[in-house]
Amino acid sequence: MGQLITGIHHVTAIASGAQKNIDFYRGILGLRLIKQTINFDAPEVYHFYYGDEAGNPGSILTFFPYEGLVRGRHGKGMLNTTAFSVPLASLDYWLERLKRYNIEYKTPQERFEEEIVVYFEDEDGLGLELIFNDKDTRAGYANGYIPEEYAIKGFYNVEIWEEGYERTAGLLTEQLDHMLIAEKGNRFRFAAINNPGNYIDVVCSPDSMRGLSGSGTVHHLAFATPNQETQSAVRLKIVKRMLNPTPVLDRNYFTSIYFREPGGVLFEVATSGPGFAIDEPGDHLGEALKLPEQFEPRRKELEKTLTPITFNDARYK
Ligand code: ZN
Repeated sequence: MGQLITGIHHVTAIASGAQKNIDFYRGILGLRLIKQTINFDAPEVYHFYYGDEAGNPGSILTFFPYEGLVRGRHGKGMLNTTAFSVPLASLDYWLERLKRYNIEYKTPQERFEEEIVVYFEDEDGLGLELIFNDKDTRAGYANGYIPEEYAIKGFYNVEIWEEGYERTAGLLTEQLDHMLIAEKGNRFRFAAINNPGNYIDVVCSPDSMRGLSGSGTVHHLAFATPNQETQSAVRLKIVKRMLNPTPVLDRNYFTSIYFREPGGVLFEVATSGPGFAIDEPGDHLGEALKLPEQFEPRRKELEKTLTPITFNDARYK
């Protein structure tokens, strides 16, 4: 059947306000809002998806914005940093842009060879990085606020903190088709396919406190699998590892299974298709609230509950 896992599919995080979230990710970072929908498990809350032009796996960051939710805490057993890939030559552009919107950032530093890292946070404290590199051949989103030569190409890596890395490493390499591709100090980098967008950094941080869920924290990390057949095969491997996966759930744009990895992070395995053009045209993604069929009869009520959002184009050009 070949490789069952092909990399990162998406990262889903928790935010404290819908408009702030739109302003930060669509506005300041210039990602494409590829879907406005609702949390299928809590329909009174939005589910926003951001990504590249088509919302390709490896570029998709999604949020549940719970209005006014208190902040969580970064720590062990949590995915603490989500890193975006940008061209090396865009460093000055991005530092200027972060300054323009009063976003504090840490001094640029080199991590592995030929990658310059700049850490910053969104307004809820979600850990983010821009990784300046020339290894990434993907195209950035050309029709947002960021000129194409500087645009975010998708994820570069994600960073998970663990008490120890061994059990998580075992799951990644034995059940999820990953290989250890680099290590430095307490950082171990894994990938299913060795290119930007797919790196999983497991950082041993036994001395840090345990993470606490809340706004500004990641809810789960989803891996990509080609189709439902490969998804079933992964599910069986997870069952055999006694990690108790959920049944296959229909998320409209993909199907999913969920399970908790040994260190405490919620993992998902999502199919690469059918994708985001299933319920609206590809050139109009994210422009209107889309509901799955089962919630369509409640549209009027839900539209009243959800905070209206605007795009504020003038402020982010
Ligand atoms: Zn998910």
